[in-house]
Amino acid sequence: MSLSEINSRIEAACAKAGRDVDTVKLIAVSKVQPLDRVQAVLDEGHRLFGENRVQEAAGKWPDFRQQCGSIDVHLIGPLQSNKARQAMELFQAIHSVDRPKLAKAIARLAQELGHCPEIFLQVNTGEEAQKAGVLPADADGFIAECLGLDLPVQGLMCIPPLDEDPSLHFALLAKIAARNGLSGLSMGMSGDFENAIALGATHVRVGSAIFGDRGVK
Ligand SMILES: *Cc1c(COP(=O)(O)O)cnc(C)c1O
Repeated sequence: MSLSEINSRIEAACAKAGRDVDTVKLIAVSKVQPLDRVQAVLDEGHRLFGENRVQEAAGKWPDFRQQCGSIDVHLIGPLQSNKARQAMELFQAIHSVDRPKLAKAIARLAQELGHCPEIFLQVNTGEEAQKAGVLPADADGFIAECLGLDLPVQGLMCIPPLDEDPSLHFALLAKIAARNGLSGLSMGMSGDFENAIALGATHVRVGSAIFGDRGVK
């Protein structure tokens, strides 16, 4: 599928939900994709991408920025505290802040660097042992802690379990955000972004539907 087809589907989903299309940002998830595919999407004028590893992003985006000017890249994968500095220099947003230690490291660096990416707090809505994110029961406390650190918290992020109806998870994330006064909702991937838009997503993270399957060259 092409970028323009995905944009059309986003427009249709917004129309159906009675939402302005400007309220939904498309993050083109370029992790592991061959550079020529990423280049093609840049050539179409898209300027917002998602990566899930700091190292991989560091090897790719400085060159593309040199060539195309400013490009927003969001970190959507797990972040170790010792890579926080590098992440804050590379990314315009971090969607995976999920523990106090990391939040404190980012807050300290923000003081030192004088800037901070937009912050999304990851919630493990499915309470899956192997998945990152704070548990729903701990979310209110963690949000308050991050706001207390003066982090620019835009909203919440989730990755629903593969084998469950994602709508329940999107609705739960939206509910936690609303009761904490947060407007950003990073949710929805290739298979379910229209669903996520219906439930309030402000940032959809779409990879394979734009670029093709990862690993197929
Ligand atoms: C890879 C990834 C995506 C994109 O997944 P697709 O199914 O290819 O759209 C979205 N969010 C996160 C956190 C990811 O790691």
